[in-house]
Amino acid sequence: MTLRLRDTLSGEVRPLEPLEPGHVRIYTCGPTVYGPAHIGNFRSFLFADLLIRYLRYRGLRVTWVMNLTDIDDKIIRGAIAAGESIEDLANRWIARFLADVDALRMTPPDVLPRATRHIEDIVRLIATLEAKGHAYRTEDGSIFFRIDSWPAYGRLARLDPEQLRVGERIEADEYGKDDVRDFALWKGPKPGEPSWETDLGPGRPGWHIECSAMSMRHLGESFDIHTGGVDLVFPHHEDEIAQSEAATGKPFVGTWLHCAHLRMGGEKMAKSTGNIARVAELLEAGVSPRALRYVLLAVHYRQGLDYSETALDAAGAAIDRLDTLLSTLDGYAEARDDDPTLPALLAGARSGFEAALDDDLNVSAALAALFDLVRDANRRVAARSISTADAGRIRDLLHDLDRVLGILPADTDVLEPELAALIEARAAARTARDWARSDQLRDELAALGIAVEDSRDGQRWRRLETVG
Ligand SMILES: [Zn+2]
Repeated sequence: MTLRLRDTLSGEVRPLEPLEPGHVRIYTCGPTVYGPAHIGNFRSFLFADLLIRYLRYRGLRVTWVMNLTDIDDKIIRGAIAAGESIEDLANRWIARFLADVDALRMTPPDVLPRATRHIEDIVRLIATLEAKGHAYRTEDGSIFFRIDSWPAYGRLARLDPEQLRVGERIEADEYGKDDVRDFALWKGPKPGEPSWETDLGPGRPGWHIECSAMSMRHLGESFDIHTGGVDLVFPHHEDEIAQSEAATGKPFVGTWLHCAHLRMGGEKMAKSTGNIARVAELLEAGVSPRALRYVLLAVHYRQGLDYSETALDAAGAAIDRLDTLLSTLDGYAEARDDDPTLPALLAGARSGFEAALDDDLNVSAALAALFDLVRDANRRVAARSISTADAGRIRDLLHDLDRVLGILPADTDVLEPELAALIEARAAARTARDWARSDQLRDELAALGIAVEDSRDGQRWRRLETVG
């Protein structure tokens, strides 16, 4: 079995065959760093994270590049409003983004290139397009891509080139272009705006060109997978294909993957409409980062996802089930022969999980395979029909599959000393058969986010992952 993915451009589900055997090169359109990212952005990033984690779990080498757009109109306006440089503003929001990445346990991309650090690559690419007759200049020093020069334009979005952009609002500074469909590669200098002195003349890059320049810089002129939210298909990715392939004459990307919208209250989550929930604010409000990760990850990437408190609660409950089983397995001790039926159960769970992900990253089916295993394991633990070593085998499999999901508690989860003291006090109370004191300590711990349970194997604790 190999991983099969649905390519947006061809519309086909195809096996992934990396250009360089064993090494998958992936580019993801990252955030524009002028404010906090919302969970709709992160749904798209976490779907790429799932892909990257699964490829690595499968033993493939992955190079993952995600750009940071650190120059654009919104950043310039934001910096002027805040009375700071675009560099300071971008740095501030990049730090915030990386904190969100960390909190949501997203795999950090191998390269996070910034547009302002790749001006030379961008300039070189535009110069090539100009030399090949795909670009032209306007009076103000801007340079536009000529859509007429690229007949394949519109293939990704399945648009009729004649109909493109006709209804689109024309920016005040773009009246000079020959055709309403053409897009800016380079923006001529304007008073009060940052500008670079380059071989093209002074100015700054347009948005679309940065992704072509930076992906080719870090992954080569042709690479395997390009991901992004579905709202980037047109015009952003359509423009990326046109300007990249027009410059190199080579296919730009092997497989295009697009993540569907996140909705909240029945509407698409978008900064422009204000219908947003930000990662940092949710976490500050006490939402569990693992539950949030689970919600954003658990629905197939090409399906719309409705975010709600109910969905978050369900995610918290799912994680609680996993945590409970893990802590049960940790404490389980039964001196008996190994269960002869367990190896087949574990192998079946693994192959079910992998088969689901091989099918265009069908994560909901993969989770179903995982929770079938949880149910079966709970049954065997309750019946005391497995050995201590068997319990370890189940735990090892859960941790191994979690390399893909990233939702289990960290192996190194150690209780804070004051909480550990309460747990010890409760153990002492139970030894003394002081049930009232034991119950009181259990409630105290619950209020601090720790659940304790008593079993034949002694007292166990786990962190509560439901919404706080
Ligand atoms: Zn992009």
